[in-house]
Amino acid sequence: MFQHDPNLNPDLSITYDAIVIGSGAAGGMASYVLASHGMKVLLLEAGKKLPIERELKSMQWPYDHPRRGEMPRSDHALTLNEYTVRPRPYAKGMRYKHVYSYVQGWGGSDYSKNIVVDERDHPTTGTPYAWVRARLLGGKTAIWGRLALRLSDYDFKAASRDGFGDDWPISYKDIEPYYDRVDDYLGISGLKENLPHLPDSRFQRSNTLTRGEMMFRASLQKMGRTITPYRAGVTTDGLKHNKYRSKCFGRGACDRRVGGCDIHAAFDSPTGLIYPAMDTGNLTVRTNATVYEITVDKNTGKASGVSFLDSETMKPYQAKARAVVLGASTLESARLMLLSKSSLHPNGIANSSGHVGHNFCEHVMGPGVTGLIKDLVGKPHTLDDGRPGGFYLPRFRNLGTRDANFLRAYGYEGESGMGMFPGHAFSTPGFGASFKKHVRDYAGAFISIGAFGEVLPRYENSIEIDPVVKDRWGVPVIKFNYKFGDNEKKMVADMAAEGQAMFENAGIEIIGVDKEPLTEGWSIHELGTARMGNDPKTSVTNQFQQTHDVANLFVVDGSTHVSASCQNPTWTIMALAWRSCDYLADKLKKGEV
Ligand SMILES: Cc1cc2nc3c(=O)[nH]c(=O)nc-3n(C[C@H](O)[C@H](O)[C@H](O)COP(=O)(O)OP(=O)(O)OC[C@H]3O[C@@H](n4cnc5c(N)ncnc54)[C@H](O)[C@@H]3O)c2cc1C
Ligand code: SF4
Repeated sequence: MFQHDPNLNPDLSITYDAIVIGSGAAGGMASYVLASHGMKVLLLEAGKKLPIERELKSMQWPYDHPRRGEMPRSDHALTLNEYTVRPRPYAKGMRYKHVYSYVQGWGGSDYSKNIVVDERDHPTTGTPYAWVRARLLGGKTAIWGRLALRLSDYDFKAASRDGFGDDWPISYKDIEPYYDRVDDYLGISGLKENLPHLPDSRFQRSNTLTRGEMMFRASLQKMGRTITPYRAGVTTDGLKHNKYRSKCFGRGACDRRVGGCDIHAAFDSPTGLIYPAMDTGNLTVRTNATVYEITVDKNTGKASGVSFLDSETMKPYQAKARAVVLGASTLESARLMLLSKSSLHPNGIANSSGHVGHNFCEHVMGPGVTGLIKDLVGKPHTLDDGRPGGFYLPRFRNLGTRDANFLRAYGYEGESGMGMFPGHAFSTPGFGASFKKHVRDYAGAFISIGAFGEVLPRYENSIEIDPVVKDRWGVPVIKFNYKFGDNEKKMVADMAAEGQAMFENAGIEIIGVDKEPLTEGWSIHELGTARMGNDPKTSVTNQFQQTHDVANLFVVDGSTHVSASCQNPTWTIMALAWRSCDYLADKLKKGEV
C-alpha cells in the first residue's frame, strides 16, 4: 500500500472533529487547514483516486496514441447545439456508450475520459446548462486551466458602487492575508502591475509575453489598459516545503490535454493540499464515498455527521463529527443541503432563509476575436509554447463612473505566439512545399482573445431538486432554472465590439469575430447558491462560511460567493476556505460549535 492510498475502511465508530465533503480546491484546503491545526478529519470523496500521472501522460506524442489522443468513436462529447436543442437529461436516447460534457470535445480527450463524469450516470433536468464535473480525488483541480486571480473591493463592494444586489460581508483587507498564504503555500506565477481592480499576488517567476503580445500590450497602454502574463497557479520557482510538486519545466504540455500537469507544477488539490495534510497524521481520506445526506441531531438541530454510499458497492454508511464542512463544489453542495430535509430543517438544512440554490451566478463566455499581426509574418521562429498560459487582459469597464450600458465588467484571456502544433495549418488551403512555407511563415503571427464576463446574481436564477429523476446512485438530481438576462446580453455585445476596437487600434488585421454567448455553464465557474451575508433572512452563511442556522455546518466552496466578479474564482475559494477553517479550528478548540 502506498503512503497516500485512501482508507476504504476508516473507523466509523469514532466521532471525528470534522467531516469534509469533497476533495477539490475547497475540500482539499479545508482538510489541509483543519488537519494542520491538529483536528482529526475525515475527508469523503465520491470519486476514486486515479493514478493521475498515468492518465494524463502529458508528454505522450499524438502518434504514440492509437487515435492521436481522441476518445473511441463509441463515446461522445456534447456539442454547443446539443446543449440548446436536446431535451434533458442530455444523454437520454443517445446512441453512444458514454456521453460527456463539451470539454471532452477538446484535443486529447482520451486522457481525461476517466476524470470527467458521464452524463448517463449524472443526469440533470431543467433549462440548458453545460455542467462540467470531475469526480475523483482532487475534483476539477486535476484539469483546471490554472488562471489564478484575486478579487478586489470593486467586486466585494460592487453593490455599493452600482446599486445592484448585495455587498459581500468582507472587504479586500479581510481576505488579503489569506490570498498571501495561498500564494506562498501553493505557488503562483505572474507580474506585478499595481492595478487596484486586479490586486497583485506574491508572485514567483513570471512567464514572458511573446513578441505579438508585447506589441498588443504597448498599444493597449495608450488606451490605459493592460495585458499581463497569465497569472498561473503554477510554481515556477519550486516549493521547498512540498515534496510532491515539481517546479514548471516549461514543457508547454498544459494545453495538450483538457488540462492537468503530470509533474504537479500546476496546483492540484491532492499533491498541493491533501498529501501534506495526510502527512500530519490527522487526515483520513475515504474515496468512493458518495454523501447523500447531512444528518441532524434531533435534540440540538446541529449537524451530527453524514450518510454516504460506497460509490461502487452501494453499501450505505454513517459517519459522525463535531462539525461538517461542505466543499463538494457550488452546485453539489447546494444539492446536498436541499436533499438534507428533516423535521427541524423542512426546506433543507440551513435553509430557513429560502436562499439555498438561489442567487446562482457565474461567467458568460463566447465573444472573442482572432487577428493577424502582419509585421510578424515571415519573422524568425521563436519557442513560445513552453509556458502555462498566454495573457490576461483585466476588466476596464465601469471602474470610474459608469461607462457602459450594462453593470459590472469582463476580462479577456488570450494568447499569441508560435506553438509546436500550428493550429492555423488546418484552415490553410493548399499542399506541398508552398503549403508548408505558408504555414511556417504565418506561425506566430496570430493573436486571439476570449472574454469572461460577470453574470449578475439574481434570486430567480436557481437550482432545485428534480422530483422524479435520480442519478446512478439513486440520489435525486439538480433541475436548473437558470438563464442569462438582459445585462449579460448587452455585455456580450460590448465584449465583441471592444475586442475588435482594441485589435484595430493595435493595427492587427481581424480575421474572425465570435459574437454570440455560449450556453450557460460554459465557463465552469458556478457560484453563489448559498451566499454569505450578515442577515440570516437573506443569506445562508456568515462571513466565515458558517451557516446561520446550524453552527457546526460550514460551506467552503464557491456557493458562498455573493457575486461572481469577472475574475476566475478558484484562488478566492481557497483563500476563503483557509480563513473559515482557521475560524472553525479555533471554535472547535474552544468547544464553541
Ligand atoms: C477545464 C477546466 C478549466 C478551468 N479553469 C479554471 C481557471 O483557469 N481558473 C479558475 O479559477 N478556475 C478554473 N476552473 C474551475 C476550477 O476547477 C474550480 O473553480 C475548482 O475546482 C472548484 O473547487 P471545488 O472544490 O469547489 O470543486 P471541485 O474541484 O469540483 O471538487 C468537488 C469535489 O467534490 C466531490 N463531490 C461532489 N459531490 C459529492 C458528494 N455528494 N459526496 C462526496 N463528494 C462529492 C467531487 O467528486 C469533487 O472531487 C476550471 C475547471 C475546469 C474543469
Ligand atoms: S508547462 Fe509547466 S505547468 Fe504546464 S504542463 Fe508543463 S510543467 Fe506543467
